[in-house]
Amino acid sequence: MGCISGFDSVCVLHIKTVQQQTHSSTCTCISTLTNISAVFNDYSSFSNVTTFADAYRNFNQIPTLNVLEKVWGAYYYWMNNDIIATGLFFFVMHEVMYFGRCLPWYIIDQIPYFRKYKIQDTKLPSNAEQWECMKSVLMSHFMVEVLPIWFFHPISAKIGMTFDVPFPAWTKVLTQLAIFFVLEDAWHYWLHRGLHYGVFYKYIHKQHHRYAAPFGFTAEYAHPVEVALLGMGTVGLPLIWCYFTHDLHLFTISLWICLRLFQAVDAHSGYEFPWSLHHFVPFWAGADHHDEHHHHFIGSYASSFRWWDFVLGTEAGPKGKEARETASKVAAEKKVQ
Ligand SMILES: [Zn+2]
Ligand SMILES: [Zn+2]
Repeated sequence: MGCISGFDSVCVLHIKTVQQQTHSSTCTCISTLTNISAVFNDYSSFSNVTTFADAYRNFNQIPTLNVLEKVWGAYYYWMNNDIIATGLFFFVMHEVMYFGRCLPWYIIDQIPYFRKYKIQDTKLPSNAEQWECMKSVLMSHFMVEVLPIWFFHPISAKIGMTFDVPFPAWTKVLTQLAIFFVLEDAWHYWLHRGLHYGVFYKYIHKQHHRYAAPFGFTAEYAHPVEVALLGMGTVGLPLIWCYFTHDLHLFTISLWICLRLFQAVDAHSGYEFPWSLHHFVPFWAGADHHDEHHHHFIGSYASSFRWWDFVLGTEAGPKGKEARETASKVAAEKKVQ
């Protein structure tokens, strides 16, 4: 077995030995690197690396890798420190994906044409509200999330997560993404429902409900304890999955976090379009589902799917009430027959 664990110190040592041997015989190895990344299992044919372009040129010579894998490999190799590479990558990815996804919703809020699609059309957020919310979220990212992001690589290393190239097969990646969506949705439903009880609501969850008509930036506007508890569903559950299966790649979890960020921001967008996903995938929650939660302060607790709220009769608002009445009417009629 090569260095596919990516975190095996013996394996890293092996790479270094190969490097040293190559150095003494050809003098073409990576003399500028001191801490060889475990992203790849054979650097013996690599030439000098001082820039990212150098690193990419080396990975570009491996015909079995696709472009994404070459960029990924070159990045880790060039960074020359796997912990810093993952920490920086996760932090930048979070900021770019979150604020990048919020921006189109902010622009849509400024265009009167889209008003007809706004769910709570009389409650348009002001620029001051958007700015204040954005600042608070940004502050939380720097103050609260930097530390867990930093420790992510060492923890995942301990439980056997891989980050080397090539990536796993797409079928495996897609299957794991689907599993994480289902698991996170269940976690979110019960935790969120619990956060609506008495003191939990008063001291923790109330902050997230400051805006009865949500907008993109409000997705992560929450008390740090809530960020940690609900964040466990996004990051903690895949880590538990990895602990038991020893079968998870950092690329898969990066994709999962991007998709989860998109889902959260879209659910808070405040817009319902004829082309919204839940019209085609009826169990998908979307903004239609979560806006009702913010509007009525109760019910519709799940994040991605509607099944928990449907089965347990906790759908919010008049639509939920109507669905419950219809269901009990059908049940009563069946009993009579
Ligand atoms: Zn809530
Ligand atoms: Zn919300």
